[in-house]
Order: sequence, then structure tokens, then C-alpha cells
Amino acid sequence: MIATLPPRGAGRFAPTPTGRLHLGNARTALLAWLDARKLGLRTVLRVEDLDPAAIPPGCLEGQYADLDWLGLAFDEEPRRGGPVGPYRQSERAGLYREALQALDAKGLLYPCWCSRREVHDAARAPHASDEGPVYARTCAPPTPRPIGDLDAVPRRRGREAALRLDVAAALGGDADIAFDDAIAGPQRFALVAAMGDFIVRRRDGVAAYQLACAWDDAAMGCTRVLRGADLLPSTARQGLLLRALGLPTPVWAHAGLVVDATGQRLAKRDDAIALEGLRAAGVAASDVRRLLARLSGLPDTGDLDLLTEAFHLPGPEAVELPAGWP
Ligand SMILES: [Zn+2]
Repeated sequence: MIATLPPRGAGRFAPTPTGRLHLGNARTALLAWLDARKLGLRTVLRVEDLDPAAIPPGCLEGQYADLDWLGLAFDEEPRRGGPVGPYRQSERAGLYREALQALDAKGLLYPCWCSRREVHDAARAPHASDEGPVYARTCAPPTPRPIGDLDAVPRRRGREAALRLDVAAALGGDADIAFDDAIAGPQRFALVAAMGDFIVRRRDGVAAYQLACAWDDAAMGCTRVLRGADLLPSTARQGLLLRALGLPTPVWAHAGLVVDATGQRLAKRDDAIALEGLRAAGVAASDVRRLLARLSGLPDTGDLDLLTEAFHLPGPEAVELPAGWP
């Protein structure tokens, strides 16, 4: 199902274009790009726009402009194309369908007609995780079995069904999923108890983020995934999906987040830390690269070749913007 991959692996940056890039996103982009270059991998820019309607007009073009200004050119990206495209998730629905069919053939999916309210009310521990209640398996069949035609799932109670992954079945008897993170170290997540059966296809028929992201990393030959530490719980789910699909997992590296002087992570809406705002204020791109390098324990330079040469992974701890930056 996965197209022939280029011989070289890849590292990727995969932003969701719901806002302009700020110093936090920019640091992730820079680190992922340097990591891939240091290892001689392809650099991939993938746009995670599963919800095209949620993308403000001009936002995608704005993010391209931010990356161009920062000086990060990717080998493969939506504007340039490449061997494992398309590089926008909104154009990859057919590929996600194949992934869903492969999971269903193993009897790992079931339809769920519950509303958000019903999921919440039926949950054993409504606030078990930051990401919402653990699903009570209200719609789970007594024994796992394939659904068959995923486009022919009937409506019930006047609603289309979402598709959920049967996490216990996918774990195949294991209680937890474990992986070694190249930055954060050994990780172990009790998926059944703490996260529950999660949605892999939404009620509107669109692939859920976890499914799309995991599948794309495999289908694009991404052997390194460097991103923010806030995504570690997602990685547990994505690791399980890849395992269930019999696909290789990338090396994950979750960097500490950039925080402000009060310890809060940088907010998307804060114009002062947006690259666009810094640029308008006359800040040079090389000074932004230099700041991001310094925040990551790299040499005090904005020179991308020098940074590539000297690159090493940053630590897992959050890093604070120094005084003088907004
Ligand atoms: Zn349900």
C-alpha cells in the first residue's frame, strides 16, 4: 500500500496552518530541519490541513513566507512536490482510506455513534486525561470483527458513525505501549486505562489527526520525527497505529517547549512572538535563528551550515525566552 520509498529516510516539519508561525513553532522547524540535514536525510514539509475549512484565508501562504524568511528550504513540500506527495493532508484522503481498510481487515475498528455529551456522561473517569474522557466502549462489539465496507456504515440515532480503534485488541495483550524517545528518554503509556479507544475516522468521514499523522510519517519514509513535548501522548497512539499496521516506527525526539517569563507556553495568538511581527519590527532572520540555536544549546550563530555541522539534540526541559525578546 505504501509507495516505493526513496532510499534515504527523512525528517519532517508538519505544521497545522491555523496561525502564523511563532518562535516556538520556528524552533521546532529549525531543529527538525537541522537534525535531518545533520543525518543526511531528506527534509519534508507536510501541511496538516485535514480541516481546510478551519484554515484562515492566507494562513498557509503566510506560513510558507515565514519559513522562507527564516531560511528553511525543504527538499519536498507542497509547492515543490516530491516522490511521496501530495504533501498536504487535505489531498491525501484516498491514502488514509487504505490505512483504515487495513486496520479494519484486522478487526481493529468499530463504528461509534455517540455524541460528545454521551461520551462524557458514560466515561468512567471524565477527566482522566487532558485530552478528554476515556471512552466507555459503549458502541464496541462483544468480539472484534471487521466492519467491511467502511463507506456503508449505517446511520443510527440520526447520526453518521465515527470509527474508533479497539486499543486493547490492537495492543494484542500488552497493557502499555512503550518507546524510547531520543530526547525525553524511555516512555510508557497505559493506553487502555488512560486514553481508551480513540477515533481514527471522524463522523464527517475525514481521517483523524492520529491516523493521518502516523500513516504519513510511514508513507513519506520519515525516519526521524522531532517535535514538541506536548505531542508525547499522541505519539503513544501513533506508535500503536503503526504497530497495528505492521509499519516501521520513526525515531521520535520530543523537545521541551519554549515558554515565556511566566512559564506559559507561547500562544499562537501572541503577535509579539510571531515571525511576521518580528520581521515587521526590523529583526533579522539570522538573529532569530541565532536566538533559537542559543535556546537549544547550539553555537551562538545564525549560520545554517555551521549549525548543521554542530547540531545535537536539545534537552527535554522547557526553555525560556531570554529578556529582550517579547
Ligand atoms: Zn459510541
